[in-house]
Amino acid sequence: MRIILIGPPGAGKGTQCQRLVDLLKVPHLSTGEMLRAEVRARTPAGIEADGYMAHGQLVPDPLILGMVGRRLSQPDCREGCLLDGFPRTLHQAEILDDLLERQAMSVDGVIELAVPRDELVRRMLARKRADDDPGIFAKRIVSFELQTAPLLDYYSRQDKLATIDGLGSANEIFDRVRAAIQRFERASRRP
Ligand code: AMP
Repeated sequence: MRIILIGPPGAGKGTQCQRLVDLLKVPHLSTGEMLRAEVRARTPAGIEADGYMAHGQLVPDPLILGMVGRRLSQPDCREGCLLDGFPRTLHQAEILDDLLERQAMSVDGVIELAVPRDELVRRMLARKRADDDPGIFAKRIVSFELQTAPLLDYYSRQDKLATIDGLGSANEIFDRVRAAIQRFERASRRP
């Protein structure tokens, strides 16, 4: 299965992704993690991305699309993958659809982890990451609301969106994630 997990910064995507890859037995493609690895290795892509990431801005599309395109064409992604942090804009979603279509593939379902803004801020204050500075974190939330939220509509119109409540224990949330996956499985079997 090809599943996308969408949620604002601090929604708990990381925890749910770990569980989902175990359930689905597919590779986890986190563009944020891929970029952080490039930054650590001081590659040209990492050096370019670093400034954007440090300011809570989206990294330019050519860099992201090249990185994701190369990863998706690797053999371990043939049976499916879990996309985390990508697509992040309507343009990226359209390019992804094109990329998959050329390989006779498609997105099976999109899970939105919905968490209210004040809860996101509370969680951010409880963890520590370079781009978790309160000002930068606020920018990442605004970027999500302006650039990523329109994606929800895009996938909803394709009848591929499951919005789930991101409040509760990791186990409770994962039960909802699993139920969404079952719905996608039933839908993919429909003629
Ligand atoms: P994340 O770990 O998914 O929150 O991503 C961390 C940072 O990496 C984001 O704030 C962006 O600067 C950058 N990033 C990750 N994924 C993308 C993407 N699909 N498009 C543009 N920038 C991205």
